Amino acid sequence: MYFNEGFITPFFFTDDPPAAPAPTARLVWPAMSERPLCQYPARREAAKLARDNSQLTAQQKAAVFVTHVVMHEIGHTLGLKHNFKGSLVPPSSSVMDYLDTPEALQREQAGSYDIDAIKLLYGLSTKVPSDPYCDDNDALHDPDCARFDWGANPLDEAWGPYYLYSGLHPYFRDKLLTYVCAGASAEVRGRAWELPVQQPDRCEHPRHHQCVVHRTGG
Ligand SMILES: [Zn+2]
Repeated sequence: MYFNEGFITPFFFTDDPPAAPAPTARLVWPAMSERPLCQYPARREAAKLARDNSQLTAQQKAAVFVTHVVMHEIGHTLGLKHNFKGSLVPPSSSVMDYLDTPEALQREQAGSYDIDAIKLLYGLSTKVPSDPYCDDNDALHDPDCARFDWGANPLDEAWGPYYLYSGLHPYFRDKLLTYVCAGASAEVRGRAWELPVQQPDRCEHPRHHQCVVHRTGG
């Protein structure tokens, strides 16, 4: 199955080296802009699916992940925008988030946000969705409105541990800095500022809660 950046095949669900890059192909409607509205980076996800340690078989993971992406795209066709705060309600209140692999494998069906939003959109209910929501525009300035984060507290559950796990990679440092600039409270902004002065004491894989840090500076 072809996504925007590559093919999803059972090949990816082994430890074999990656295949040669797939040829570039694009499918657009005549009235659409050149720039697609939704780009689900399948190649990145396929590689991570291969490392996922869920109890699902490779075939099951492939099927669930494809279902998740199809549900996401159907959500767009029904009128839903992205909701990058779905992951704040673990594993996610919405298929319209860009979910990291473990959460995507747990969100095969519409989430509570999606159901409430569709009911409101089509006049089946007057209830405004109560789950957190933000769209692509909010992602520019709201640190909790992030693609591919996870957990109810992404600063402490995702970006902070990954910053240490990655060997202080600038990509994750910049994620921390978004919290320094625009964290929800002074306490959050201060905690984000202090994370870079922590050093990993034992840091295997943060998704498995094996990243233990101790503070070495003030
Ligand atoms: Zn999308």
